[in-house]
Amino acid sequence: MSERASGTIGSESFFYIGRNGCGTLQIALSVLVGGLLIGLIAGPGASDSIANNTLESTGGVRHVAAQPALEQPQRLFVASAVAEPELPKPAPEKIRSLKVRNGDTLMSMILSAGVAREEAHDAVTALRAVYDPRDLRVGQKIHLTLSKNDNLKEMLLDPSVIRQIAVRRDDATLFRAFETKRTLNRRLKFARGVIGSSLYKAAVGRDVPLSVLTELVRIYSWDVDFQREIQKGDRFEVAYERFVDDKANLVRHGKVIYAKLVLSGAAKPLYRFEIKPGRSNYFDDRGRSAKRPLLRTPIDGARLSSRFGKRRHPVLGYNKMHRGVDFAARTGTPIYAAGDGVIVYRGRNGGYGKYIRIRHAGRYNTAYAHMSRYRKGVAVGSRVRQGQVIGYVGSTGRSTGPHLHYEILSNGRQVNPLTVKMPSGIKLGRKAFAKFQAKRENIDALVAGLIKEFEITRR
Ligand SMILES: [Zn+2]
Repeated sequence: MSERASGTIGSESFFYIGRNGCGTLQIALSVLVGGLLIGLIAGPGASDSIANNTLESTGGVRHVAAQPALEQPQRLFVASAVAEPELPKPAPEKIRSLKVRNGDTLMSMILSAGVAREEAHDAVTALRAVYDPRDLRVGQKIHLTLSKNDNLKEMLLDPSVIRQIAVRRDDATLFRAFETKRTLNRRLKFARGVIGSSLYKAAVGRDVPLSVLTELVRIYSWDVDFQREIQKGDRFEVAYERFVDDKANLVRHGKVIYAKLVLSGAAKPLYRFEIKPGRSNYFDDRGRSAKRPLLRTPIDGARLSSRFGKRRHPVLGYNKMHRGVDFAARTGTPIYAAGDGVIVYRGRNGGYGKYIRIRHAGRYNTAYAHMSRYRKGVAVGSRVRQGQVIGYVGSTGRSTGPHLHYEILSNGRQVNPLTVKMPSGIKLGRKAFAKFQAKRENIDALVAGLIKEFEITRR
């Protein structure tokens, strides 16, 4: 009997081999070898664990089935004991994992692995039954299993985390394509904690994944200034989605569905709510949108270097009203439009240096000064969206060092961006609000259950 390991593996274990490549295949092989060994020792009345790794001999090709035993699982052990009393050697086959790069076609990739053109063509033709090879994306991986002579035995593709495609050689000449869909189960996970030095540390200390933490910061970014408003002893709660496969293995994290920050004793809950199919937003317990028309801080990672109000002017040297806030940042740091609007000024503006002003809906304008340069394409009359880059930090005009001077103007007068009561965001209509209330109650009940669970596991 030849010792070629099979490419045909029960669909479940097969999946993991596909995802993890070589390493797992070796584990599968050693299980197989181990099973064979125990089979040799135990002989035909082998235990269940062997029966579950059933070996079936079909013309030198073995199938490892993840399903319960076939009718006569022991037959092979006897046969192999007779035919080959020594340990089988690992299969002389190669697994090639290839990453799709720009300009690659599936055909060119298979050929580059050394497979003969006709064979590659047959495999791709078989594949078309379940997958269009033109759907390959740059960065996607394909795994090829080749025999010693570069005959293609199996090809695996993972078009998405829930879908796997396999083309396997059915007999010497025929390829067949298979599609496996993994059903993902949605789970909710809850975490809460007390903030010591930062929300980041507190959340990571409670195993909140980074993607969830990023989302948490983002949904509060209109309301909370994380660099300045967080105090020791503040608290957070978060409930988020986790998608697991049917073996309860984590596949990916999902959305935050509920969060609460308690800052200096004031609770700020947020609930995820689908306004329209596919369009979700976060709302507080009274149905007010978390997203506001203006950002208080239209820059990332900057340090507040000067507040709004009377101060000694660093350049002019006398007391002067500071009508904006300054954020120190490196030259070239991107500056964002604080809200949707239209550019009404772009150019030099005296002591402001390179300056942009945006008119927003209602009575608000925002202004940005001392820029090093403007973003290409940003001109008077351009429409901009909240968060869009409009220019870069610099030190033009009356400035002692690179920083953004940011102003919010209400009816033409500068107001303090850090304390101004922000205009509210989307208002839910009467019907939507009723729906939201039902959703909120539903989430509250879910969260109450999760909190109980959380308390038990932490005890
Ligand atoms: Zn300033």
